[in-house]
Amino acid sequence: MTVGENKQQKINKVVIVGGGSAGWMTAAALAKVLGKNYCKIQLIESDQINTVSVGEATIPQISLFNKILGIDENEFVKQTQGTFKLGIEFLNWNKKKGGYMHPFGDHGRSMHAIQFHHYWLKMFNQGLAPDLEQYSLAAVAAREGKFMRSQNMGDSPLSDINYAFHFDATLYAKYLRKFAEKRGVTRTEGKVVDVSLRDSDGFIDSVILEDGQRINADLFIDCSGFKGLLIEKALNTGFEDWSDLLPCDSAVAIPCKPKDPDKLYPFTQSKAQKAGWIWRIPLQHRIGNGYVYPSKYISDEEAVDILTAQLEGEVIGKPNFLRWKTGIRKKTWNKNCVAIGLSAGFVEPLESTGLHLIQSAIAKLMALFPHQGFNQIDIDTFNKQSKTELEYIRDFIVLHYKVTDRDDSEFWRHCQSMKVSERLQAKIDLYQANGRIYREDNELFNETSWLSVMNGQGLVPSGYHPFVDALTDEDIDNRLKHIHKVIQKSVDVMPLQTDFINENCKA
Ligand SMILES: Cc1cc2nc3c(=O)[nH]c(=O)nc-3n(C[C@H](O)[C@H](O)[C@H](O)COP(=O)(O)OP(=O)(O)OC[C@H]3O[C@@H](n4cnc5c(N)ncnc54)[C@H](O)[C@@H]3O)c2cc1C
Repeated sequence: MTVGENKQQKINKVVIVGGGSAGWMTAAALAKVLGKNYCKIQLIESDQINTVSVGEATIPQISLFNKILGIDENEFVKQTQGTFKLGIEFLNWNKKKGGYMHPFGDHGRSMHAIQFHHYWLKMFNQGLAPDLEQYSLAAVAAREGKFMRSQNMGDSPLSDINYAFHFDATLYAKYLRKFAEKRGVTRTEGKVVDVSLRDSDGFIDSVILEDGQRINADLFIDCSGFKGLLIEKALNTGFEDWSDLLPCDSAVAIPCKPKDPDKLYPFTQSKAQKAGWIWRIPLQHRIGNGYVYPSKYISDEEAVDILTAQLEGEVIGKPNFLRWKTGIRKKTWNKNCVAIGLSAGFVEPLESTGLHLIQSAIAKLMALFPHQGFNQIDIDTFNKQSKTELEYIRDFIVLHYKVTDRDDSEFWRHCQSMKVSERLQAKIDLYQANGRIYREDNELFNETSWLSVMNGQGLVPSGYHPFVDALTDEDIDNRLKHIHKVIQKSVDVMPLQTDFINENCKA
């Protein structure tokens, strides 16, 4: 069959190869949306091949995924040993003591259609306002260990609390597996050892398992992880390498017991090292830790030593080493194969975007779901959107490495001097001139995120929006003080996350 033929015949069978987070998220979402009768959905996974077993911190968009599935959030948190996340704390990413928070949700409030931070910049630069994060409900609550869901409280910041989750990745895949199997997805245990292509058009005809089973489908979804069993090994799609922009290519993960189980702070921590950074993800039953490092500067043994020395409690389990090449497949949808998850590409985990990219690929696939005819324009649109999305995320992550005054190691000196994309450089220049920030092309990270990181990394604009001067300093001062007070009062009424979990979703 060539592209365009059999246009209106529906897809009768979808095969998903891989049962990590990507495989089971895809299976669960398709099963929920398509129901049991539209087409067969079969997932193949091999117990002989481990999943990456990381991917424990998320961003707020995951709530939308849960809503589509109709998941009860408290039950979900319980089943995955989950906790809540209001942002990420970055420590040692520049010389400034105390680090900074990239919170979910806005800072302050726009005034006269001018973004809040322009007013703040004017006052802060004169020593008349505290740190930016004092104007963010999420940041203040996170540092005080507080959490609750939004309440219907009119104009109060408590009406709009943006949050995400931390959870155990293995339990998450198990949870979704149960969900998907209940809705008709069949699971086949087996190792794919070969892929058979159709002579006529090079589309995938079937995958062949170690025991000789041949499994056909109309549409194949490659969730086989970094190796890209179908998209790369079978279809030779090619890979666009971004290693020159993101120097970290390795990680080691070692979970440990919490030092103080009663203190659960609702944020991920990212602590920069001489080369790379260490994550800390608090779950109900353990702390997830990992060191993301560049193999050019740090050996695996050194990485384990550096991470182990910083663990707060007794180690649970063996070190889990991961290695990757940063970048994207030249096409994430090629012929009748769609790559979702690590098989599609990877930028490192600094801003917890891996699971979001899976969710977003599923949404795009649903919007562009093919007939048997596979219109090339649908495929091209999917590929274009996927690439643009990942490029914006890449640039946002590169920003953390590029904009720093750290020069205490070869790694940081390299990061400071590396050439970044024109688009990122333009964003940096625009902010540096007059504090202006734009969200472009529906990119994932909004103005709040760009502001948090640009300001947190130490970028200081030369000016602020001229309209700010339409208000007197006294007026601005009063308004800023009011916002600050409202935020503090709101956080005062929030419960500690520990109490919130005990009451609603204790595992
Ligand atoms: C160090 C690191 C930290 C991360 N942290 C985060 C984070 O905090 N937040 C976040 O959102 N994302 C994070 N990610 C990304 C996230 O982990 C992944 O996006 C997610 O786990 C999806 O992985 P996957 O399912 O694509 O691949 P995998 O987990 O590798 O699963 C691959 C599956 O394919 C199967 N398979 C492979 N070969 C075969 C075969 N021949 N036959 C049959 N089955 C096969 C395997 O058995 C497995 O089931 C992180 C990634 C890394 C590397």
